[in-house]
Amino acid sequence: MTRKNLIVGNWKMHATHLEAIQMTQKLHYRLDPKDFDRVDVGLAPPFTALRSVQTVIEADHMQFSLGAQNVHWEEKGAFTGEIAPGMLAKLNVRYVIVGHSERRQIFGETDEWIAKKVKAVLAHDMIPILCVGETLDEREAGGAMEKVERQVLADFEGLSADQVGTATIAYEPIWAIGTGRTAKPEDAQEVIGFIRDLLRRKWGDVAEETRILYGGSVNPGNIAAIMAKKDIDGALVGGASLDPDTFASVVRYWI
Ligand code: PEP
Repeated sequence: MTRKNLIVGNWKMHATHLEAIQMTQKLHYRLDPKDFDRVDVGLAPPFTALRSVQTVIEADHMQFSLGAQNVHWEEKGAFTGEIAPGMLAKLNVRYVIVGHSERRQIFGETDEWIAKKVKAVLAHDMIPILCVGETLDEREAGGAMEKVERQVLADFEGLSADQVGTATIAYEPIWAIGTGRTAKPEDAQEVIGFIRDLLRRKWGDVAEETRILYGGSVNPGNIAAIMAKKDIDGALVGGASLDPDTFASVVRYWI
């Protein structure tokens, strides 16, 4: 089973819809159509830019896939400020980031909510990118594996093997996010290999199909070494995805 690499730009709370259109167009011009034979590229702008980025991608037949940064699990209702999965699906959103550490830490998202979000995304034929990872204290206390195991089992609770094969996981050590401090490629491989073993133990051979990404201060200087690791299938990229030149260099990690 060969898993196609996937690199997703998480633009977080950056870019108006006009800026997002420009960023998408600039990135498109910096990539070669053949690049997409080696790597799928997802763009996750803020909600207010989703429709604009979708329109640009489709009008110019770009090969990017649209991503969302969050979702609610209910179909509709009195949930002021929330966005339903069906609303994203109608915009041809393919990837939905679920359980990012910023959402867990700043907005208090629980594993119970995250598990509902994962299921809601899959029910709408979109692909959840489940984020898991340990704090610095947890790593220093030797608890990184225990933390990611607990998160994966809680957040994928009740999924079928097929659903696990469709889903994507991003291992994002919290101490590496936005800090300029990247995990050593061998440390990232160790945790990601552990996650794949965990999926295999619980859901069987479908573990070979699940894409597992690394995230945390990825940049053009460190991406090649990360991608060289056998269980790492790509990257979730925050800061380095905001500048199209920089992000193009990350996407074309083999050059
Ligand atoms: C992220 O927010 O998912 C992330 C990995 O951010 P950064 O690349 O800026 O560390």
